[in-house]
Amino acid sequence: MQLQQAKIAAGRRPAGRTVVSRIPTVRVQATVAMPAPSSTAAQPHGRVFNFSAGPAILPVDVLERAQADLVNWQGTGMSIMEMSHRGKEFESVIQKAEADLRALLNIPANYKVLFLQGGASTQFSMIPLNLAKAGETVDYVVTGAWSKKAAEEATKYCNVNIAAKGDIKSLPPVSGWKLSPDSRYVHYCDNETIGGVEFKSTPDVGDRILVSDMSSNFISKPIDVSKYGIIYAGAQKNVGPAGVTIVIIREDLVGHCRADAPTMLDYKIHVENDSMYNTPPCWAIYMCGLVFDKLLKLGGLEAMQKLNEQKAAVLYDAIASSNGFYNSPVDPAVRSLMNVPFTIPSQPDLEKAFIKEAEKLGMLQLKGHRSVGGMRASIYNAMPVEGVQKLADFMKEFAAKHAK
Ligand code: PMP
Repeated sequence: MQLQQAKIAAGRRPAGRTVVSRIPTVRVQATVAMPAPSSTAAQPHGRVFNFSAGPAILPVDVLERAQADLVNWQGTGMSIMEMSHRGKEFESVIQKAEADLRALLNIPANYKVLFLQGGASTQFSMIPLNLAKAGETVDYVVTGAWSKKAAEEATKYCNVNIAAKGDIKSLPPVSGWKLSPDSRYVHYCDNETIGGVEFKSTPDVGDRILVSDMSSNFISKPIDVSKYGIIYAGAQKNVGPAGVTIVIIREDLVGHCRADAPTMLDYKIHVENDSMYNTPPCWAIYMCGLVFDKLLKLGGLEAMQKLNEQKAAVLYDAIASSNGFYNSPVDPAVRSLMNVPFTIPSQPDLEKAFIKEAEKLGMLQLKGHRSVGGMRASIYNAMPVEGVQKLADFMKEFAAKHAK
């Protein structure tokens, strides 16, 4: 029922047939119970616990589903990668992906959903090109590497006012943001993937158009989409494979692109063509669709948020209870549920050994971003609680061995 309503709200042209059944059900375990400590069970298919910041871990049952579909999708005799994006089969895939995303995020009918290419980085240019004219002012809040990059890109097209700056460890309080009186929009990054700082609620910017980069925490928690002008996210962290960028845009913001901007950077072109102005990233969209389907069956984003809070608490508790052996550089009030950076402050030389030993135990990609060093555990939706528990257990053992 909910799905049907979402499909109607999606506003795509009617397909004239039922499409829901074309994507098979993904079997999931709808459990949010924490595992017993020291889970050492082997992972299916010889897989590891992958703590990469992105491209990142995907749910194993989604991968299995994709594997089953790979050579012959739904009896069509071909894979999703081989079929026309204009055919009824792929149309059913993209329609269901959109409908499920709308249901997950409760996206209002006056918002369009786009599946684009060029990564979140292309949004750094598309946003100013579509929302501001040359000479107009736009506000940027810089809280880390990604919002800094977005702001730098916008300076090519309009006047950028840096309304506030974070210091990597904390977030500037919204009450202190120096928004310019005539700004066209306010851009911020909801979760800085490198620094591990995350906004815990939607910044209140009054009537201004709020634009959010949610690349690394998209669909990790419920959000009120109606508070935003644009939300965008590269898929390769919390949603699916690299290659697709999801944009949720309020209808009235479509249709104002600069005339001299490339056609591919005009939101209107993509809205008018249901994300199929040119060949879309079909496989990536299909994979995102499987993930959306799974999350709905798991209980939606409330359930995901609960699980993500539990998982993050396990790691932050392991840091807090280490008597200073480990340190999280981030203010506890804004610690990310998705990306957990930490260091061994008294013996930084041990960090390499930590990463190596963890690797031997099947916990990979724990090296911090090259710009900050230390360790970083990215624990997106698809990271099982067992993985986080195993890491916390290892952290305790390692600290016990090396603490002075
Ligand atoms: N924003 C954030 C928060 C990111 O983490 C990233 C990628 N790590 C980007 C933007 C850039 O994304 P892409 O590589 O898809 O252009």
